[in-house]
Amino acid sequence: MITCNDISYSYDGIQNDLEELTYSINQGEWLGIIGPNGSGKSTLLNLLCGLFQPSKGKVRLDGELVSSMSNKQIAKKIAVLSQQNSFTFSYEVKETVKLGRVAHSSSFFPTWTSVDENAVKNAMSMTGINKMANNLINEISGGERQRVFLAQCFAQETPYIFLDEPSNHLDLMHTIRILDMLKELQRNERKTIVTVFHDLNLASLYCDRLLGIKDGKLFIEGKTDSVLTEEVLQDLFDTSFQILDNPETNKKVIIYKSNVL
Ligand code: ADP
Ligand code: MG
Repeated sequence: MITCNDISYSYDGIQNDLEELTYSINQGEWLGIIGPNGSGKSTLLNLLCGLFQPSKGKVRLDGELVSSMSNKQIAKKIAVLSQQNSFTFSYEVKETVKLGRVAHSSSFFPTWTSVDENAVKNAMSMTGINKMANNLINEISGGERQRVFLAQCFAQETPYIFLDEPSNHLDLMHTIRILDMLKELQRNERKTIVTVFHDLNLASLYCDRLLGIKDGKLFIEGKTDSVLTEEVLQDLFDTSFQILDNPETNKKVIIYKSNVL
């Protein structure tokens, strides 16, 4: 379980980019974070996994203060796909995925075991990147690179998986394939999943709960269906939507509306 209590964060020390947010993420649930550009979604994700320290308030991971845990302790529990992946070296695809195993290696005697090899193989199959194992990551497409960084997260084999806009650059087939696999990990291994989504239909399909953020503040939270209403979405995004029920899936379908058509 992850809890954050009254957390605030400021990039410039003057204005709060995230303000007094209190929330709990339960073990085994899939939480979706939604909200307009610049509302604080990535900032919140970075605070929850200890990449940023809150200027006020506390974050606890399974009862332990995240600020008192080492990077390695956190990396054994949470795998994070950041929104902007920086890569300064042109690593090979497989080497990049292997970095996901660093959290599991002993710092004194780093060894590569069959457990590590299997985790990497499995993650590469899940994301369909076997064929490009020896390619350089700066010489593949944006969508392929996104799948390499997703594979790195899966290879980490953590109970918590945090993905900031995981479907960025992905075609629909890979989006559904990867989100389906995450759903199975959630169901079969009780993994806790937190994703930032812009596509509200993906949020509707996969998330158990949604957290809507606007202007750095918690705007709404609740079960996915209770958040996905025309009124809430209109107020959250300042644009209008039409919402239908899909009787086959029992999920809401969000229809995007144009202002000119
Ligand atoms: P979102 O992920 O919801 O699009 P972010 O969490 O990235 O939004 O940003 C929240 C706010 O913090 C925005 O106002 C943004 O301009 C500001 N911000 C984000 N990153 C930085 C940064 N590196 N330096 C200064 N301000 C930032
Ligand atoms: Mg973001």
